[in-house]
Amino acid sequence: MNSLFEEIEPLLFHVEKPARYVGGEMGSQLPLHSSDSVAWLLAYPDTYEIGLPNQGLQILYEILNERHDAVAERTYAPWSDMEAAMRGAGIPLFSLENHLAAQAFDVVAFNLSAELTYTNLLNMLDLGCIPLHSADRGVNDPIVIAGGHCTYNPEPLADFLDAVVLGEGEEVISEITVVMKRWLDEDPATRERRSVLEALAQVDGVYIPSFYAPIFDGPKQIGLTILNDHAPGIVEKRTIADLGDWPYPKNQLVPLMEVVHDRLNVEVFRGCTRGCRFCQAGMITRPVRERPAAQVIEMVKRGIERTGYEEVALTSLSTADFSDIEGVVTSVVDDPANGGRVSVSLPSLRVDAFTVATAAKIQQVKRTGLTFAPEGGTWRMRKVINKLISDDDLYAAVDAAFSQGWRRVKLYFLIGLPTETDEDVLGIAELGARCVEIGKRYHANITVSASVGGFVPKAQTPFQWHRQNTLQELQHKIALLREAAKKTRGLQIKWHEPAATLAEGIVSRGDRRVGAVLERVWRAGGTFQEWSEHFDLSLFQQAIVAEGLDIDAMTIRQRDVDEVLPWDHLSAGLHKDFLVGEYRDALGEVGLEDCRWTPCYDCGACTNYGIEHIVASPQAPAGGSQGTGQHLDLGVPVSLSR
Ligand code: SF4
Repeated sequence: MNSLFEEIEPLLFHVEKPARYVGGEMGSQLPLHSSDSVAWLLAYPDTYEIGLPNQGLQILYEILNERHDAVAERTYAPWSDMEAAMRGAGIPLFSLENHLAAQAFDVVAFNLSAELTYTNLLNMLDLGCIPLHSADRGVNDPIVIAGGHCTYNPEPLADFLDAVVLGEGEEVISEITVVMKRWLDEDPATRERRSVLEALAQVDGVYIPSFYAPIFDGPKQIGLTILNDHAPGIVEKRTIADLGDWPYPKNQLVPLMEVVHDRLNVEVFRGCTRGCRFCQAGMITRPVRERPAAQVIEMVKRGIERTGYEEVALTSLSTADFSDIEGVVTSVVDDPANGGRVSVSLPSLRVDAFTVATAAKIQQVKRTGLTFAPEGGTWRMRKVINKLISDDDLYAAVDAAFSQGWRRVKLYFLIGLPTETDEDVLGIAELGARCVEIGKRYHANITVSASVGGFVPKAQTPFQWHRQNTLQELQHKIALLREAAKKTRGLQIKWHEPAATLAEGIVSRGDRRVGAVLERVWRAGGTFQEWSEHFDLSLFQQAIVAEGLDIDAMTIRQRDVDEVLPWDHLSAGLHKDFLVGEYRDALGEVGLEDCRWTPCYDCGACTNYGIEHIVASPQAPAGGSQGTGQHLDLGVPVSLSR
């Protein structure tokens, strides 16, 4: 295997941010390849600065490199200037560690976190000289795998992927390695690609798209034929039982250039049972599994010592819900070894679960803007989406923030939600205005900004059947909001481009026919579609017409609850009757309490896998999923950032 670095190096003088392509970061490894090891190329289909902090990729990178029978390297999507230079010089997609061609690896595994990166995946395969369609790959081509949250509907990428992993990768990645090693040890003259796919199909959590053929009738999928005896009827996701058994990443990568989330990141728990009905991440990662507080503190301590970072993010879907959040924050901020330099940020907090004491503890080191995510503009809307934050909850949180010296508050909302009316949309401006009024009691100059995203219904959520808003509906709602916000000095409205919301919707619930649409978008030059300067809805519109498909059928069509969905054979563990019940409750404006503190609703996430919630604090009910009905009271609610 030859390093391509000598050929790559001259290109670096002519491209933006050459540090994206050199590797050598603290925490990176330089694995030695041999015939005894399965070579993995872990690929992120976006730029280095977006992909490098991805914790899932870093965890798998370490687990694989710890194995005696595997090596792992990384690659990210080259920016368009580098891609042009590489194509001009005949240099294929390469790894960052040893600068090896993608074709030199046995497995190329993509992390899928966002639908608008899918055309980048196609581009990376092409740049890597790997046949685009799985059907065209030979015995010497890498096995192309994808994992990540988007794989709960991987059908738009089905023709391009050899295998898809559902759920958490910590255990299954080793099982796949063992299967691959056994296959690679076979005689190359007689080895068949089909046999390794059949063996992978028998690994729990692994889906082989080519073993299934969907049946269509007009805009709908009406069935699915299983083509191979080794393929299960339903592929169930993988879930690790105890996060405490997996203290990864142990050596977080420290980049050589500025990246997003450039700080120490320590995951404090996985899963969320708050039950927000729009939230795919919350639904697919159940049940809740907390990392022991002592392990969190140790990981923070060691990470700070090793990396020199002065900011640590305690990550999860709702970090204020971590049982011992105050104890952990206090321990980090007060640790004399940190010399008062280390600040804590708590992404993904809710409005209703944080204490003033904890906020003050964090503020002691560094005061940044605070972010709250009420998501809906009215209490009615929040009951529909099951984000049970009252107006008073929000005002109390905002009051606490301004009274303690913060001057900037950011509010996150979604528009285009099921049953939403203009009144709900205008409620966003009213909430924002009231927050400005509260802030002005404490400071003359304050800012409240309301960031508004467009709702996209996602697979495996209670809203998976619901129609998406049209472009015109979203544009109307944004115009309404902007007009209403003009009345309040200090209130800013920021919004996500509705055209990008529409494109995301085309892909998120797309069936296998969307693959041809993506290929057309890519062939027309549509890479980096998640970047506003590159995004072009017309590429999607033209491709859909060329494929004889109907954009409205893909996005605004209301699905029937008993129609076949393209992802019905892929399970996130949730019982269908739970999702249907949640959808009906949403339309009836009925909320549902967090199952950590109430009796179980039998959604399936625990019972299907024999796992229960792990909430270790003495404050929390001891009964796991069969909660005692106690409530974890964290006092006055404040959340710090999303
Ligand atoms: S099975 Fe019960 S306790 Fe477990 S996540 Fe679902 S509702 Fe909650």
